[in-house]
Amino acid sequence: MITVEQIAAAGVVGAGGAGFPTHVKLSGKADTVVINAAECEPLLHKDKELILHQTEILVEGLARAMQLVGATHGVVGIKKKYIHVIEVLCPKLVTGMTIASLDDVYPSGDEFILVYESLGRVIPPGEIPLSVGVVVMNVETACNVAAVPTKPVTEKFISVAGSVEHPSTLRVPLGTSFNDCIKATGGTTITDPAFVVGGAMMGYLENDLSKPVTKTTGGIIVLPQDHFVVQRKRWDWQKTVRVGRTACDQCSFCTELCPRNLLGHPIEPHRAMRSLGFNISARSDVPGTIFCCECNLCSYCSCPEGLDPKNVCAENKRRLLTNKQRWEHPLFRPERAGQQMINRKTPTTRLIQKIGLAGYPNKAPLEDHLLEVQSVVLPLRQHIGVPCIPVVHSGDRVQVGQPIAKRPITDGKPALGADIHASITGTVIEINQESIRISV
Ligand code: SF4
Ligand code: SF4
Repeated sequence: MITVEQIAAAGVVGAGGAGFPTHVKLSGKADTVVINAAECEPLLHKDKELILHQTEILVEGLARAMQLVGATHGVVGIKKKYIHVIEVLCPKLVTGMTIASLDDVYPSGDEFILVYESLGRVIPPGEIPLSVGVVVMNVETACNVAAVPTKPVTEKFISVAGSVEHPSTLRVPLGTSFNDCIKATGGTTITDPAFVVGGAMMGYLENDLSKPVTKTTGGIIVLPQDHFVVQRKRWDWQKTVRVGRTACDQCSFCTELCPRNLLGHPIEPHRAMRSLGFNISARSDVPGTIFCCECNLCSYCSCPEGLDPKNVCAENKRRLLTNKQRWEHPLFRPERAGQQMINRKTPTTRLIQKIGLAGYPNKAPLEDHLLEVQSVVLPLRQHIGVPCIPVVHSGDRVQVGQPIAKRPITDGKPALGADIHASITGTVIEINQESIRISV
């Protein structure tokens, strides 16, 4: 049996989102491990491709995770529409493992929604899945756990979609530039492209294509500059406030369709919008915004006026966190989850149409060979936790898989994080405070 320290030394973190170090998650005790294969961000397909191509590895990673946390039940949460993937996966599952068939709705990959839809358990606001006896891991993370200790994390799977010649899921060395990823798909098909990293709903605009793929990068979507998604991501705070203050009619659709509200959590984005009329800077306590998962459903889809309640909630949330305010949740109503959810889920097909992605190929088949690159840049901080400390020097020759940066030691123990390894064989060209560059 592997140990959690071996998982940390292999550099395994959540392969998406904030990238929480996996060894910390697997240090807890839970009765169930849920694999998050919902993959609800439009046009991204890496998880399904990984299940199809690394089925046994995924199952091994799930089994190891179950063993470490003492779970007797392992669940793969996947949308029921992916029949061909489920048909491949089902025969490989072993005793104690099942599939949870999810509706094709957004955001079914939010772990609060996933745990509810898979197990019927409602995680209380501000808590983590462990509070209801569950550990959630994504597909790629489970595959990385299966490779410990033989193979540390040196590669990443990433979907590249939108206006590119051949939308694909690539297997690339960590630290590969976004530019190299896009070139590997045949390049862009438009003259003035914009680049969304991480997903159309929750990702961000990136202008610098020399930036590297990290352990948490899940996708790159290429879109025209005038595309709805690009335009919305360009809104600044002044516009959010100006338009929101004047046009919000308090219809409360944003709240009625908010997935966290539907779970009974005390988040009501329409109230956050109302606060704009009372000068938000003087009101830092809009109830419940701290529980917003920033899924963007309210801003991109629910609001009939096209306003931006998500960023109003997110701004409030940041303010609350900065002021170390914690909203106690007397209004938490978990019994609401079953009542409201069924009729108010947002179908992904409707979402895709609404945000202008219906015309793009909605598949990204795996190119199952490791992309060859000439150089990589490995940030010392790629996820939640502290930056790693380099253990190599400029000019050193390094082999793929060799540790090049390690967690600092504080109070005699490694700090929160995960070690970093060379993702290609080559020479360390540059080390600075932020990253290590290696060239072949
Ligand atoms: S849905 Fe839009 S208009 Fe309605 S309350 Fe929310 S922000 Fe205001
Ligand atoms: S972004 Fe909007 S819909 Fe999503 S959790 Fe936050 S308030 Fe709710």
